[in-house]
Amino acid sequence: MIHGERFFGRLLGGFGEQAPESPGLQWRTDAGIQLVLDPQGRVIDAHGLQRFGLGLATGEGTPRLLLDYLVPGSTQALEGVPADWTGHSLDLDFQGPGLNVLNTRGWVQPQGDHWLLQLLDISDLRRHSQQAGSREQCMQLALSITQQLRQCSAARLPEVIHEALRCVAQQWRVPCVALAVRSDTALGWRLYSAYHAFDAPLLWTSGQTVGEVLDDLDATAPRHINADLERSRTPLLNSLFGNADGLLVPYRDQRGQSVWLLLGFYPAAQQRRLMSDSDWLLVCAAMAGPLQDRLRDQQHTAQQERMVALQELLGTGWWEWLQPSRQIQLAAQLSASLLPELEPAALTREAWLALFHPADRDEISSGFNALLEHGKALLLCARVHQPQGGQPARWYRIQGQVLGAGAGRRIVGYMLDISDIKNQQLQAAAAHARLDNLIASSPAVIYVQRYDEGALLPAFFSDSLQPLLGWSLDDCAGGALIEKIHPDDREQYFERTRQLLRQGSSRSRYRLRDRSGEYHWLLDEAKLLRDDLGLPVEAVGLWLDITETTEAADRVKHSEERYRILVEDSPAMICRYLPDLTLTFGNRPLATYLECTPEQLPGISLGDWLSSEQRQLFARRIASLSPEFPVSTAEISLQLPGREHAWWVWSDRGVFDAQGQLLEIQAVGRDNTEVRRSQQQLTHGAKMATLGEMATGLAHEINQPLNVMRMAIVNVLKRLGNGDVQIDYLTEKLTRIDSQIQRAARVVDHMRVFGRRSEIEQQVFNPVQALEGTLALLGEGLRSKGVEVRTEELVCSVQVRGHADQLEQVLINLLVNGRDALLSKRETDHDFQPLITLSAEADSSHVRLWVQDNGDGIDPRLLERIFEPFFTTKPVGIGTGLGLSVSYGIIDNMGGRLSVSNSATGARFCVELPVSEG
Ligand code: ADP
Repeated sequence: MIHGERFFGRLLGGFGEQAPESPGLQWRTDAGIQLVLDPQGRVIDAHGLQRFGLGLATGEGTPRLLLDYLVPGSTQALEGVPADWTGHSLDLDFQGPGLNVLNTRGWVQPQGDHWLLQLLDISDLRRHSQQAGSREQCMQLALSITQQLRQCSAARLPEVIHEALRCVAQQWRVPCVALAVRSDTALGWRLYSAYHAFDAPLLWTSGQTVGEVLDDLDATAPRHINADLERSRTPLLNSLFGNADGLLVPYRDQRGQSVWLLLGFYPAAQQRRLMSDSDWLLVCAAMAGPLQDRLRDQQHTAQQERMVALQELLGTGWWEWLQPSRQIQLAAQLSASLLPELEPAALTREAWLALFHPADRDEISSGFNALLEHGKALLLCARVHQPQGGQPARWYRIQGQVLGAGAGRRIVGYMLDISDIKNQQLQAAAAHARLDNLIASSPAVIYVQRYDEGALLPAFFSDSLQPLLGWSLDDCAGGALIEKIHPDDREQYFERTRQLLRQGSSRSRYRLRDRSGEYHWLLDEAKLLRDDLGLPVEAVGLWLDITETTEAADRVKHSEERYRILVEDSPAMICRYLPDLTLTFGNRPLATYLECTPEQLPGISLGDWLSSEQRQLFARRIASLSPEFPVSTAEISLQLPGREHAWWVWSDRGVFDAQGQLLEIQAVGRDNTEVRRSQQQLTHGAKMATLGEMATGLAHEINQPLNVMRMAIVNVLKRLGNGDVQIDYLTEKLTRIDSQIQRAARVVDHMRVFGRRSEIEQQVFNPVQALEGTLALLGEGLRSKGVEVRTEELVCSVQVRGHADQLEQVLINLLVNGRDALLSKRETDHDFQPLITLSAEADSSHVRLWVQDNGDGIDPRLLERIFEPFFTTKPVGIGTGLGLSVSYGIIDNMGGRLSVSNSATGARFCVELPVSEG
């Protein structure tokens, strides 16, 4: 049994300096212990100073040496009575006070009837030998632990450490043992492994983190945890040890990294005799040293694996200049990507340079020289030489630096594939240049305003500011920009800034003065950029010069307003409609005619109010519009709600697209119904006037054949009374009667036509018919008055559009006027031969009818006035002054023209009419 498991206390203070080196030496009798024994081995008396250190087992009567004094079982060899023990060296372990044991060596000698037992304290000797044994065990254990830790596989490492902790715990009876290592992470210290005896409380667990508590400890010597002391000094440490005594044993390697061995519920100070601090340092080093090496190894391997993976991922790798061979060694993966067809090997400097684009070689070479000769760090970007071309450039960032000095001087570096970044950079630079160009040539300015305590101060303007406004950044610095904003627009600018700061973006327009003092309208679009904390950093924005558009828009707005008022207030009908006659807009007058509101007009078809014939004509007219001749005017007739007929003078203007396609028609109309009606009434009135005038002539016209017929009948009746009727005679008379009847019938026929109101719809007819009709009506009357009527070339095959009876009336008016002029001339000149000449001519577009007399013509001063209504030179009651004006209206209505001129002999009227294709 090893005594180390008990607590050894010094039994006798101050006795050590006289402690015997060996039992055989002579020493003072008061040293040691002398026990007087009776023959049975009972202790009768005790002497010597150390006798007071003997504990006595409680027993009855005289105490016995073997049973009551000695540690039970400590001296198995000793039995029997003192007489048996003589001649033997006796090693006796006495029970001290409490648990203390006093180790002694001695002998018995007879003293009278009794025996004297002489004993010397050999506790120190014992302790030394125990300690030596313990240290050896400790060494052996440490050695075996170290060996196992060095040999085990990485996977078994935690297990082996745990086993080692168990051994330590059992060997030195430590209830809780743990090994703390510093984690890489920010978690601080971690218990790599923990062991507790089966009957000890669970103080620690493997993997438990213990924070920073071990950070500030002195890692050169063990730290004894004394629960009473630590409680107030280091409460954290105290609680780590469960408010009990313990020991913290450090291990620190050559790099200064520490591992701590924790012994819990372990009164180290009391056990010091068995396991000194240095023993514990040894045990701890045996475990911690190899553990740290292994862990570092693992870390290193993991790191290396990560590095390789990283290098492969990044397309990067190291290179090193090998001084002795003057060659460059490339990392395997770098070599593989740069020289895929070659085995990895060191390259000469030239071979290395040849890897790069010729354009970059000089730069690399000079940078490399500076690195080799002056130790100047190398940092540059270069392209890899790709003789095939075509592929996108591969860019590397090459870094190099000197490590160490003297014999340990190394030149190492990295190459990093930055093709992605570089190509993007080049693209971005190109885009940037394009953008710069674009901005410089556009009426736009990009600006940056720096945020400064709630204000936005100009910090940058694109170069386009100068050509656009003539200002520079300095001109706009500080509050100078506000001064340049139009006073009326400043409030807008302030609001724009407020909105920008509040909502992060803004869009506004205001005027800004340029260097020459003129204001530009700017469209300002800005965005606020914030930092990670959401605080404003700067505003980036764009100014677009919209002066022209704004002013044009203003002009358009004003003119639109004017036109809108014009259109709405116009008494004329104004509308827009599609080629299919659907209205898209109409003003109030049009709506009033169609008995609806202007809002109801869009969608209504104009065709609804036209007769089918009118609609056809209308459509034909619209179809004839072209971009070259977009305007057409006509008088159209409509059947309006609640009215019989309406006549509108209607002007259309076609709007065409770029392809010449008719998009819509804009039209202006005027109601001509009243004019039309009064004109009709006038025509009719004039007709009636002419008729009245002609009544006298007609009486004669009709009377004449009646007289002739009466004469013929009287003569026939007379012959019949005489019975002298011959067939020939009778036939001749009847024929004459018949011809006279026909003559009268013709006159009556024409009178009927003449008296009728004209049809609404125009018809197509041959104008010569009207001429002949007129002659039939007036011819005889004129001739009877001595007026010769001469006709020339009345053959005409073309047609005109209008009302035949109206044209007849025009011709009648002209003939009657001619007759009047001729007859009045003959009143003064009796030899005068009145003559009216009628002629007609036609070309492809027009028909002209001429009525010429040989009267005195018209006074040139009156030429312009004779078409005026009620203009007459005839005596009151005779002239109406309507004939020519009505005639003018009729011809005008037929699309023609009535004109007059003075010829050599007299007045010459011309009726010109357009030829109708239909
Ligand atoms: P009215 O015959 O009732 O006077 P018109 O309008 O027919 O009215 O004619 C207007 C005037 O024109 C006549 O009063 C006359 O002075 C003049 N006039 C018309 N025709 C002739 C003509 N052939 N020769 C001379 N004067 C003419």
